[in-house]
Amino acid sequence: MKPFVYYRVSTVNQAVALLAKHQEKAAILAGGSDLLGMMKDGIEGAGLERPRHLIDVKGIKELSGIQESVAGLRLGAATTLAELVHSDVVEKKYALVAQAAKQVAVPQIRNVGTVGGNLCQRPRCWYFRGKLFTDCIRKGGGTCYAHAVGAENQYHAIMGGDICSMVYPSDLAPALMALEAKVEIAGPKGKRVIPLEQFYVRPEKNPLRETVLGPQELLVAVHIPAAAAGKKGVYLKLRERQAFDFAVLSVAVAVRLQMGKVAESRVVFGGMAPVPLRSVKVEAALKGKTLTEAVGVACAAAVEGAKPLSGNGYKVAVAQGVLEQALNLLA
Ligand SMILES: Cc1cc2nc3c(=O)[nH]c(=O)nc-3n(C[C@H](O)[C@H](O)[C@H](O)COP(=O)(O)OP(=O)(O)OC[C@H]3O[C@@H](n4cnc5c(N)ncnc54)[C@H](O)[C@@H]3O)c2cc1C
Repeated sequence: MKPFVYYRVSTVNQAVALLAKHQEKAAILAGGSDLLGMMKDGIEGAGLERPRHLIDVKGIKELSGIQESVAGLRLGAATTLAELVHSDVVEKKYALVAQAAKQVAVPQIRNVGTVGGNLCQRPRCWYFRGKLFTDCIRKGGGTCYAHAVGAENQYHAIMGGDICSMVYPSDLAPALMALEAKVEIAGPKGKRVIPLEQFYVRPEKNPLRETVLGPQELLVAVHIPAAAAGKKGVYLKLRERQAFDFAVLSVAVAVRLQMGKVAESRVVFGGMAPVPLRSVKVEAALKGKTLTEAVGVACAAAVEGAKPLSGNGYKVAVAQGVLEQALNLLA
């Protein structure tokens, strides 16, 4: 592991000033469960963390804790996943978030891993993480190794992967997106708040970054609107084993029912595409129907336009199966 300078800051302004000073050589350190692994593995390439300056944000008050107000729920970016799991208000009113948080990794990682780190973690694609694959497009090269003949691409994207077929690994992102959460970002020009749906960057736009965060910006908080508390929701995650594992495929569904029919819904898939993938086609298929009668059309809509690779055709059926199970559970 290369040497680095460690800073423990207590305000957002201090963090932004250090980011501005050290630019690409700086990184935000939260729980470190992803960042430190990347650094120890020495993964190198353009746009990749080889930070010489780690800015520990866990001491910033503004980034900590869960606060409920009439507007909804505010989750500080440095709130741990364990805090989410053990929060009464999250469990009772925003159960979708609790369900997703409980399925991240193992208790040890949830004790240190944070909301911000979960939403900003780097891809788990083994070609991206593997040192041998130096021409990986996400490391500044020109190749997506998952597309090569004989590639090990069984966990890769079945949608939106023409340029890079990694899948975004966060469990929280689909759940928060289904609840129409927004993210608060701080940078040298002050703060901005954007829908989480606009936070992730598709590879065709920029394969080097997964989020819209600039090198001088950090995530301060996530805001879940109060309206989300009135919705029914479920997060289902299919993984190969029941010990810690990333999603092969997951789905977050949030619905508002009126007289037993779907008045409004948000459906977001994980493990399907390089970004957490909202499916407006599924949402349209659900509208005005009971959950039970909508299952068939919704499942067909979920995989419309899917382009599986040589080894992940099974994911098309899995996406439909996971969605069917989620809708049946909600029904
Ligand atoms: C064995 C193992 C299993 C895992 N399983 C899962 C899983 O099942 N599901 C899942 O979703 N994840 C999983 N993870 C990934 C990840 O470690 C956790 O999701 C965790 O929440 C990351 O949070 P952290 O605070 O430790 O992030 P860190 O490692 O501190 O940071 C991760 C990245 O986010 C950036 N970052 C952190 N906070 C901010 C901020 N406030 N603003 C801007 N950038 C920021 C860092 O610079 C870094 O690039 C797993 C990790 C491991 C090691």
